[in-house]
Amino acid sequence: MMGPSHALSGAATWLAGSWALSYFDQYHQTPLQVAVGTAICAGGALLPDMDLSGKVTTDEGGATVAHTFGRFSLFLAECLEKLSLGIYDATRLKHDPKRHNGHRTFTHTLPFAIGVGWLTTLGCVAGGKWAVIGILFFMMGLALRGVFHTWARQLGWIPITIASAAAAYGTYLYLPPDRGYPLIGVAVGVGCVVHLLGDIITREGVPILWPIPTGRRMWRMIGVPNAIAVKVGGRVETLLRGAFAVVSILAVLALAAPAILHQFDIRL
Ligand SMILES: [Zn+2]
Repeated sequence: MMGPSHALSGAATWLAGSWALSYFDQYHQTPLQVAVGTAICAGGALLPDMDLSGKVTTDEGGATVAHTFGRFSLFLAECLEKLSLGIYDATRLKHDPKRHNGHRTFTHTLPFAIGVGWLTTLGCVAGGKWAVIGILFFMMGLALRGVFHTWARQLGWIPITIASAAAAYGTYLYLPPDRGYPLIGVAVGVGCVVHLLGDIITREGVPILWPIPTGRRMWRMIGVPNAIAVKVGGRVETLLRGAFAVVSILAVLALAAPAILHQFDIRL
């Protein structure tokens, strides 16, 4: 799937999950916590594609998300792609094909999703104020770039960078550390898993079983059969994107409904 679809799938999952938790499990979050979790999960749902680098010197090619912070993020994507290729080469078995590019390898695995979520929480708890602001800044930048894909491309990376920095600082001031910091890590991890699911329904698939070897292959790409696979950028993807937007809106309404009813003293 393309960047905006991934971002919206992350946002929809977090909002629907937050509603389900509050409805079935009485786990309530403040509007700020829901908003932050949604933004981070949308950003997390783009993170795995940071392994698709373009041309750093000419600012061309690469995934949507690799352009978030201009050449800085393109360079980061370049490093991540090389690191992923290194991990691929180091762990590949006899029947795994030789690759020249690390896209859709290490960052598209469950150990990456769990590891990056865990490291995020650890970083927030151990790193203090600037670590939290830095993580929020990075993830919110990815989310803005993904959700407002067309505007972001027209405006360039500087407004996105300024907006994410302001949002990150504002959020830091009001986010309670006890529940807020683990929330950031969980949202990043969930976002990555949602990304994997989004890529599984395309033809290329993802190495979801890694590091479990199957038939002398460590990096078996698992996807749905070609006949029902979603074409990247095709009509089904557009429909899915619309569905994610509808789910997000419904979840926001459902989350806000009790407070609105209470405000007007309406009892159902
Ligand atoms: Zn991907």
